[in-house]
Amino acid sequence: DGLSELLLSRIRDVPDHPEPGVMFKDITPLLADPVAFAALTDALAARCAELGATKVVGLEARGFILGAPAAVRAGVGFVPVRKAGKLPGATLGQAYDLEYGSAEIEIHAEDLRPEDRVLVVDDVLATGGTAEASVHLLRRSGAAVAGVSVLMELGFLAGRTRVEAALEGAPLDAL
Ligand code: IMP
Repeated sequence: DGLSELLLSRIRDVPDHPEPGVMFKDITPLLADPVAFAALTDALAARCAELGATKVVGLEARGFILGAPAAVRAGVGFVPVRKAGKLPGATLGQAYDLEYGSAEIEIHAEDLRPEDRVLVVDDVLATGGTAEASVHLLRRSGAAVAGVSVLMELGFLAGRTRVEAALEGAPLDAL
């Protein structure tokens, strides 16, 4: 549709970043275009309302840039999921496997209530490992996961399959 075409037209392919053989999807042209950024913000905020989400959770770091304005637009709070060691308060953590090695994400669980329904936002879904770990982390925090919304999905990596398995019926959408 028109929105998808607009968004896609503002994403830049950067070959061999951050390492040879990787085609990096760079969203900075989209952020620099006020029309495209507003359209994305509106779409994420609409998704939030449709799903009855009471919080937006953004994944470090580009999920912050996309998720925070969407939360404000939707009239709900924003909670960051950060890489381990960054959040100052009491955290709940979730480790997950990377292609080489592992990573850990953390959240201030006290910023979520058991009655919260969370929409998880990030820019790119690749292997799905980050989004999958976030869904597990949020469940352990006691909040319900209303869905995951990403700007774009790299379909050839099959990340959707593992995130959908973690979501247990809640929707994963790629704008
Ligand atoms: P995954 O865990 O493999 O799905 O990787 C997703 C995470 O890596 C997200 O937080 C993305 O921001 C980041 N990422 C992976 N590939 C790209 C890319 O091509 N462009 C921008 N971010 C990416």
